[in-house]
Amino acid sequence: MDRIVRQLVAGENEIIRASLERGATVMITGLDVPGKRVAHRIGCPSSDRILDRTAAWTPQFWERLLADRDFQPRMPHLQTREEARRVTGLVSCGACKPQIFDEPVSTRELRAKNLKTHHIGLPLSDEHGADLGVISAIDLHKDARTAQPWDIDNVTVTTDNQVIEFAGKDVVRVWDSPNATKMAEREQRIRALVGA
Ligand SMILES: [Zn+2]
Repeated sequence: MDRIVRQLVAGENEIIRASLERGATVMITGLDVPGKRVAHRIGCPSSDRILDRTAAWTPQFWERLLADRDFQPRMPHLQTREEARRVTGLVSCGACKPQIFDEPVSTRELRAKNLKTHHIGLPLSDEHGADLGVISAIDLHKDARTAQPWDIDNVTVTTDNQVIEFAGKDVVRVWDSPNATKMAEREQRIRALVGA
């Protein structure tokens, strides 16, 4: 039984990983119930129990699997922000503000070289506030062509809709909220769990 559930979790993680890698940054709850559709960030506190598949498979669900070999706990509906905008009757979660409808949020200015893994999952904008997408990977590296001992940091940032090369000194803006860091940590944990 243990082994069967582990295999099922591995398969489910694979599906979640594929969604994250194709740029999904939004989880929709209540999709089957019109009027209850809510969009969340991956790192929303309410996403944890469904995205962490080991947690999703509770002991009660193990028992149901014994009785019904096809049983599966509810899987997350993961979508890109673009896809989510086309879902009828969707509203944004007030806790994690996934910004699919351009909800106004406060942002903070920083140099691209100061982007850290705790910014993954947060919306990135340029210094003028133009939306660049939700950060899914940050790679700080030296520019081989102009290797110099000064000011040589380059940053490759992958978002849900593009890959952007920054000079380390470029100014960017990220979402600034008391919850932002915790939300990003949760998203990092989920990404690590599924190997994305
Ligand atoms: Zn939420």
